[in-house]
Amino acid sequence: MVDFKALAKEYGTPLYVYDFDYMSEQYTELKEAFKGRKSIIAYAVKANSNLSVVRHFAKMGSGADCVSIGEVRRAFLAGIPAYKIIFSGVGKSDDEIREAIEKDILYINVESEAELQRVESIAEELGRPSRISIRVNPNIDPQTHPYISTGLHDNKFGVDLSTAKRMYIQAKNSEHLDPVGIHFHIGSQLTQLQPIREAAEIVADLIRSLQAIDIELKFFDVGGGLGVKYGNEETIKPYDYAQAILSTLTALDLTILCEPGRFLTANAGYFVTKVLYEKQNGDKKFVVVDGAMNDLLRPSLYNAYHKIEAITDNNGKTREVDIVGPVCESGDFFAKNYPLPELNRNDLLVIHSAGAYGFGMGSNYNTRGRSAEVAVQNGKARLIRKRECFEDLICLEQEFLVD
Ligand SMILES: *Cc1c(COP(=O)(O)O)cnc(C)c1O
Repeated sequence: MVDFKALAKEYGTPLYVYDFDYMSEQYTELKEAFKGRKSIIAYAVKANSNLSVVRHFAKMGSGADCVSIGEVRRAFLAGIPAYKIIFSGVGKSDDEIREAIEKDILYINVESEAELQRVESIAEELGRPSRISIRVNPNIDPQTHPYISTGLHDNKFGVDLSTAKRMYIQAKNSEHLDPVGIHFHIGSQLTQLQPIREAAEIVADLIRSLQAIDIELKFFDVGGGLGVKYGNEETIKPYDYAQAILSTLTALDLTILCEPGRFLTANAGYFVTKVLYEKQNGDKKFVVVDGAMNDLLRPSLYNAYHKIEAITDNNGKTREVDIVGPVCESGDFFAKNYPLPELNRNDLLVIHSAGAYGFGMGSNYNTRGRSAEVAVQNGKARLIRKRECFEDLICLEQEFLVD
């Protein structure tokens, strides 16, 4: 178990702590689930883009799924080889496309006909064909939170089946494009198999119809989205997930590409914050802590549940409290009506499942420096990102200050 008190003392609060051994276990379990098939696990860098986290997965053989050229650069810096890096996202700029082609990554995931045109022109300019994959929107309801559902036609992601087919034909006929893959990603925090199986079936059928017209793809990119336990929810086992996907691929010899983010890092991460005060407004009891929505946005953004553990000497009976930060927004809370024992100044709260979409969604709102990040591996802790100081926050403005 991680000694949060000792870490808080050494590195200060608020603080992100990541259990690297847990990340390894998750990676291995998923990789094993696809045993017997060629597969690449391409870690979705946006879930937690700390260089040391990406490096940790690189050392295990992971690839990277990137959604900006900045993430592509992080993947390279962390030592992920070009042939395991893919670049997705609905809005890529010309500069991003150019750099991705120049860096010779595995493929660009194309999300619209207009984008296909841009990739083709840029590849032509560079005199260098671009490997591509097309993101298909299978119009499946993933039965998750509407903000993190991506596989329905009312979401902005991907193209419908007939558009995809037209795009593959165009790519095949272009000397500047090399269609190598097909991609779908129907949502995040998926806790049911059926939508995944249905989406995979639809996409596998499209692959067969492309084969019939001599378009042979190599990569079946099933996206990410594997759900994790935040509270008591039931979620999908990696083995069942892999079987559901593989069962749709009879007679197709494709390399599976899987892009998990949350599954690899969410439950490896803890956000440690210190109690400043308790206060009472009428019937309502608040615990005010030193962490805030600028550090961990998920509760404010999605009303997301995180388990919260109190580290205190008072182990008496609990009462329901709202746990709030110092930011000037009523939406700045970590939990509402959460049962906690009475707390003293300087007690710690440990917010669980904070390893994905935690630090990365952070900001400097209210001129708050972002937290330090610490990795724990083999019982040893090490700093992997310094706490931001005031000078870090103003350095890009200060030179423009005039009288
Ligand atoms: C965000 C994203 C992922 C990772 O999603 P998780 O829910 O964290 O697994 C994978 N692929 C694409 C294209 C994404 O946008």
